[in-house]
Amino acid sequence: MPRTARKGAVTKHTSENESVSARIIAETERYCAHNYAPKPVVVTWAEGARVRDADGREYFDMLSAYSALNFGHRHPEIVAAAKEQLDRVTLTSRAFHNGLLGEFCKALCALTGKGMALPMNTGAEAVETALKTARRWGAFVKGVPDGRQRIVCCAGNFHGRTISIIGMSTDESARRGFAPFTEGFDVVPYGDVAALERAVGPDTVAFLFEPIQGEAGVILPPEGYIAAVRELCTRRGILMIADEVQTGFARTGDMFACDHEGVVPDIYILGKALGGGIMPVSAVCADEDTLGVYEPGSHGSTFGGNPLACAVALKAMEIVRRDDYAGMAREKGERLRRALAAVDNDDIVEIRGRGLLIGVEFKVPAAPYVAALIENGVLAKETHERTIRFAPPLNISIEELDEAAERIARAFAK
Ligand SMILES: *Cc1c(COP(=O)(O)O)cnc(C)c1O
Repeated sequence: MPRTARKGAVTKHTSENESVSARIIAETERYCAHNYAPKPVVVTWAEGARVRDADGREYFDMLSAYSALNFGHRHPEIVAAAKEQLDRVTLTSRAFHNGLLGEFCKALCALTGKGMALPMNTGAEAVETALKTARRWGAFVKGVPDGRQRIVCCAGNFHGRTISIIGMSTDESARRGFAPFTEGFDVVPYGDVAALERAVGPDTVAFLFEPIQGEAGVILPPEGYIAAVRELCTRRGILMIADEVQTGFARTGDMFACDHEGVVPDIYILGKALGGGIMPVSAVCADEDTLGVYEPGSHGSTFGGNPLACAVALKAMEIVRRDDYAGMAREKGERLRRALAAVDNDDIVEIRGRGLLIGVEFKVPAAPYVAALIENGVLAKETHERTIRFAPPLNISIEELDEAAERIARAFAK
């Protein structure tokens, strides 16, 4: 059974207590659109890698809001930065300057090695921004007639949920009933450089890809792929756009997953962990010859670059380097993978990943194993039916990680 770590906390759950979760779930199901199928856990408190449900049961968070919680829940320094900013100014819109936007963009440039940043809020907005940037760059810099620009993307991609983005998706459940889609995208198999080479034509302006496909089930490309993509994009004169929304900020054991092959893309798309687990903060980072295509009025966002977002992200960027989160992800990822590899269950087909982004693929539907994990006090969720992704906060302690691994082994034991 799951335990509670807090001394004296309620470990028994009475039927009265259990009705708290049940009541909340019923209300949510009644009034909230059913665009998700959440697991039946109502999280009402969290700290670090631990969360507690409405009935006082405690769990390890091994999903971390799809890597938005790389710093864990309520990192005290990020919360303090937010609180301080809440008492000053939270929103100005871009109609005026705010005190932190310049500093925020400068820090993003230092982190990525790029010359400019364009702030947005959600990952999908940053992806849209990258697509718009690539099209403008194609028209204004490369000289492709406006309206003819094409962007190559990968089968199995996940870049968000807007109409344009799902137009690139190969996942039927994300597309069904949402047509017509945005034109101008070509899909190639992931990890296949020759297919990319064939797909690039005179009107191609960019290649958009994830250095590891997270939502697709933690799919790693063949070794050398990222470097080969870099070479190809340079040679063919197209922009290399890396969607590092999920893989960025040390998740895979490097600051960015492209670092694994020593590659710098032309455009970084960042989000999720950039918001420090507090609020949506995203950005596109590139050099001036690319992001310079915008003039006032050509693109924007009311909340993009707001001072509260800047304060939170600045603190997150400080911590990720200062505390060597990449090193933590490498060390703990290794440790967790070793523990998982020792699990004896022939339903498991493969354990793969990099850093603390790990997928365990089953040859059967994984939902019953997810239920067993929850029963054992571990929060995780299957992606694409047969793969369970483990991506705990990068600052989970070694003791917590070992305890979580033991619980996972118990849940997976035959
Ligand atoms: C989550 C994710 C997005 C979309 O981010 P949202 O904030 O949900 O819009 C885009 N790309 C990747 C790789 C992601 O994992």
